[in-house]
Amino acid sequence: MTDEWKTRTQLVHGGTRRSQWGEVSEALFLTQGFVYDSAEAAEARFVQAGEDEFIYARYGNPTVAMFERRIAALEGAEDAFATASGMAAVSGALTSMLKAGDHVVSARALFGSCLYVLQEVLTRFGVEVTFVDGTDLDAWRAAVRDDTRLVFFETIANPTLEVIDIAAVAEIAHAKGAEVVVDNVFATPIFSRALEQGADVVVYSATKHIDGQGRTLGGVILGTKAYIRKTVEPYMKHTGGSMSPFNAWVMLKGLETIDLRVRAQTSGAEAIATALQGNPKLKRVIYPGHESHPQNALVQRQMGKGGTVIALDLAGGQAAAFAFLNALRIVLISNNLGDAKSIATHPATTTHQRLAEDLKATLGITPGLVRLSVGIEDPEDLIADILRALEAV
Ligand SMILES: *Cc1c(COP(=O)(O)O)cnc(C)c1O
Repeated sequence: MTDEWKTRTQLVHGGTRRSQWGEVSEALFLTQGFVYDSAEAAEARFVQAGEDEFIYARYGNPTVAMFERRIAALEGAEDAFATASGMAAVSGALTSMLKAGDHVVSARALFGSCLYVLQEVLTRFGVEVTFVDGTDLDAWRAAVRDDTRLVFFETIANPTLEVIDIAAVAEIAHAKGAEVVVDNVFATPIFSRALEQGADVVVYSATKHIDGQGRTLGGVILGTKAYIRKTVEPYMKHTGGSMSPFNAWVMLKGLETIDLRVRAQTSGAEAIATALQGNPKLKRVIYPGHESHPQNALVQRQMGKGGTVIALDLAGGQAAAFAFLNALRIVLISNNLGDAKSIATHPATTTHQRLAEDLKATLGITPGLVRLSVGIEDPEDLIADILRALEAV
């Protein structure tokens, strides 16, 4: 039925379940628990809950289930589990799959909290983790072993916007029987074809483009029905990282407009990346959707578009980056991304502060690097704001 709908129809109607009142807007079931008609009914539901039967909000909730069905339809996944944050999704997806003695290969360029989970948490429980340069296929070939359980990477690395070839890494991993788990935040669910290209599990921070208006934290894990219900759900429902019904309701409303927002943000990012080419204050303009990006051909093949984030490397280092940030009037200094409001971040001193200096240097997180998340404002106003702030440097 809903499988035949195109994306924008799915995003408005997919997964909707109406109560007896026939409400137009998705109902917010702000309830932790559910009442049973009898003691026998309660017993039966604990043995096996049906599709539309709920027990406790940590296990599931009607509003959360609507969000899960809608995002699964968008991603083309069999099923989804909604989590309290993006990090609950990353750590839940990984921890639910792994046990002591397992081997993991991960790209080295990771969001600080993802790096913490792989480097500091999983290793404490006896998981061996090998880090590689995710753009180097020979490095993946050398690192993936017969006993490798899974590989993990951000499909576009935060904040340096290097792109990892999903199909090629998946082929290497699958040849050794390893599964492919990807953090797909920067690709966005609108331009993602990660499952089709060989990923087994896709994880999002819904805090970013899915909410898209800076209100709530959330995350989601997507994969096969068997993986979500047999591996992820038991782990998440007992360890407590489930999404709240209120946040799920905000995310459902976010999904209604995500296609419009992300496409508008992406065309804004394209215009800004073009306008900044050759600017004397900049050492580099990094935008996956611009032909100057070294992996632009891969971006075209893998996503079609470059997404909503640009990275600028200011020639004058940290002092220039700070002067630029402080001179912006429309673009906000903050650390979220994917928001309707444009946001600039200095990764080296904020989101990636905890990385060792030599790792920052290896990853290209230079003192002059500024990450720019493009919002839905008029691109002409944004270009004027950015050019004027660069002038002030
Ligand atoms: C923001 C982000 C996360 C974490 O998401 P939260 O919702 O903040 O927990 C994980 N991975 C990437 C790539 C992110 O950008």
